[in-house]
Amino acid sequence: MIAPAPSLTPQSGLLIPGEPMDDRILIIEDEAAIADALLYALHTEGFATHWCALASDGMAWLQGNPVDLVILDVGLPDENGFELCRRIRRFSSVPIIFLTARKEEVDRIVGLELGADDYVVKPFSPREISARVKAILRRTRPAADAIGDDSWFHHEPQQRRIRYHGQWLDLTRYEYLILGALLRHPGHVLSRDQLMDAAWDDPGASLDRAVDTHIKGIRMKLKQILPELDPVVTHRGLGYSLKTR
Ligand code: CA
Repeated sequence: MIAPAPSLTPQSGLLIPGEPMDDRILIIEDEAAIADALLYALHTEGFATHWCALASDGMAWLQGNPVDLVILDVGLPDENGFELCRRIRRFSSVPIIFLTARKEEVDRIVGLELGADDYVVKPFSPREISARVKAILRRTRPAADAIGDDSWFHHEPQQRRIRYHGQWLDLTRYEYLILGALLRHPGHVLSRDQLMDAAWDDPGASLDRAVDTHIKGIRMKLKQILPELDPVVTHRGLGYSLKTR
């Protein structure tokens, strides 16, 4: 269903040629009052939005439309939000913020390997959500691509994908975020803490923080394309850097 727009501004749903594209937020939430409050807050901030009240509708929308971030209610009538998140993660690394009504659900979000980027406990202020949405988008989408045309790498932040020697890399979400952070600073040593900050919202949270494991995964995938080259450089006791050419 198309969300009723409380304050329909020209940029809230339409794409104006020549203007930067709005970030597209998908809200999957069955309570209309909560969805309305979110839609209003996000429109005010200039986001384009789409609202689905059912998990099945949300999944269908995600599979057919570009979405930059998903706000996902845990308690949906047709499918648990956790389960939907797992299904989304099988094909997409789109950032996901959980809405949860109960504090106990937070433990599951944090403890399980669901691949959520953040969560907000109801009742919440819509402005709080807007702030988190902006923070996550800032983190996951670099403003500028620091690497040059002659680079071994080609980064498309809008599509959240990276090409290496002409081949698209099949990266997990964390691998993508870590490699993206290294690509933004070619040749610079980034510490594990800096890479954690780049890839995780709350480095103190018990979400997967094993930077080394993800680096290993990245190296393996790069070697599959070009076995003789290892562009990821380990700086003992300091961190990692990336050779881009
Ligand atoms: Ca609900």
